[in-house]
Amino acid sequence: MRSLVWFRSDLRTRDNPALSRACAMADAGPDGGVVACFVISPGEWREHDAAAVKIDLILRTLRSLRAALAKLNIPLRILRAAKASDVPGAVLKCAQATRCSAAFFNREHEVNELARDAKTLQLFEKAGLKAHSYNDQGVLEPGTVRTEGETFFTVYSPFRRKWLKVFAASGVELELGTPRAQSPVDVSSDEVPEMVDGFRSSVPAALWPEGEEAGLARLRDFVSARVRSYKDQRDFPGIDGTSSLSPYLAIGAISARQCLAAAREANGGKLDGGYPGVDTWINEVLWREFYIHVLVGFPRVCRNRAFKPATEKIRWRDDSAGFRAWCEGKTGYPIVDAAQRQLLATGWMHNRLRMISAMFLTKDLLIDWRLGERFFMNHLVDGFLACNNGGWQWSASTGTDAQPYFRIFNPFSQSRKFDPDGSFIRKWVPELRDVEGDVVHDPSEIPALLRSKLDYPAPIVDHAKARERVLEEFKRADALPE
Ligand code: FAD
Repeated sequence: MRSLVWFRSDLRTRDNPALSRACAMADAGPDGGVVACFVISPGEWREHDAAAVKIDLILRTLRSLRAALAKLNIPLRILRAAKASDVPGAVLKCAQATRCSAAFFNREHEVNELARDAKTLQLFEKAGLKAHSYNDQGVLEPGTVRTEGETFFTVYSPFRRKWLKVFAASGVELELGTPRAQSPVDVSSDEVPEMVDGFRSSVPAALWPEGEEAGLARLRDFVSARVRSYKDQRDFPGIDGTSSLSPYLAIGAISARQCLAAAREANGGKLDGGYPGVDTWINEVLWREFYIHVLVGFPRVCRNRAFKPATEKIRWRDDSAGFRAWCEGKTGYPIVDAAQRQLLATGWMHNRLRMISAMFLTKDLLIDWRLGERFFMNHLVDGFLACNNGGWQWSASTGTDAQPYFRIFNPFSQSRKFDPDGSFIRKWVPELRDVEGDVVHDPSEIPALLRSKLDYPAPIVDHAKARERVLEEFKRADALPE
């Protein structure tokens, strides 16, 4: 038997369940072996608001994947499908053309991806071929960690406690290793294009070195040098205190299992109850598990719907000028502007800033979280629906375990607390580079004459008034009948 491995958001050779199974099941000899494929599907990418910087990382990673697969005698075919609905047919055609009798892939859990995979299974069955899918995105199969009443958790802390129990009893291996080389096949690899039309990235590629080796090197470096100080440093955007592994997790250049395996080793073999820094980092990786689980349990969040239906009654403001100012980092709130400009320049934003910026858009400007969610997706190198949606709905107080609507970040105090010396602001907002002292957090406190010399906008909204406005609106929506 010859196997076809369909790579999607799992662009690595190590610890890859579909690849490992395909290699284990393929026969040796001229009719055996393994072929790999990846589908370039600009229509599907556009439908999902994939950012050019993420596509660029994917294409570069595919080139290193192609080289790593070649060492295993596995050729990589690059398929094209203009739109999402063409993808299953393209994969079937590849299987038939390369004489593979079964396809192997790792599951994705978003609504459209589930429909695409169901269609693929149907097509394969109709053609008399087999298709096998595996869990990969969650360390534990999403949806399997449930309450005593078999319902889905909607609050993180009890989910985490149960997750640790289920994991301990599951016998799930944290690292599958790399499969052995296969019998050579009479199929050649395709070139991976440098760029796909409509996805030209302006972010320097050097910021995000491609491939699983780069992801693993980042993981090793973080775990050996910085994870122990994670708890104390992770909230300060001016410090390199987090792993910045999210882009590699989003495209599957590394797996969450590999992250937990490395963390556990650095934590004396424990996932909980070890060093505070390592425990805290593991906690964050488990937030990712939680949000994937939410997406599986409540697929409405994939369809632009609020997790809390009552919050659908909120009258978000139609404010295109405010939205544009937020997108461009010109709100007059230095910490928000620095955050947005970091995103535009690097494709990434620090977690503390994602919360500040998302809360500013939804609470200070009272603009629909869906617009912010989409803008982030369009610009993030680590855009990942489960976490992006979870983060936005948390900030907007419309989601699971969300921030209560009356707890609204004050952007100025957040700024003073998490960028105490203002160095992050000065780095990303050059108009304020020469502003000395604490006023860098709130330039409206600078005397008018001096302020007029700065080429920096006045705040586009008054935080105290905006706070009252959003509280009123949430109360009003809350009081309406179901
Ligand atoms: P670390 O702090 O080193 O954490 C390690 C890993 O844990 C991360 O790579 C990530 O996979 C996971 N993680 C960390 N924090 C969270 C969290 N709060 N929720 C879920 N998982 C987490 N993360 C994405 O991967 N993709 C997104 O599109 C995304 N959008 C977000 C939007 C908003 C509004 C908010 C508030 C958060 C969003 N996050 C998203 C979560 C978080 O901000 C990023 O995962 C984190 O900043 C990535 O940096 P890191 O790899 O250095 O994280």
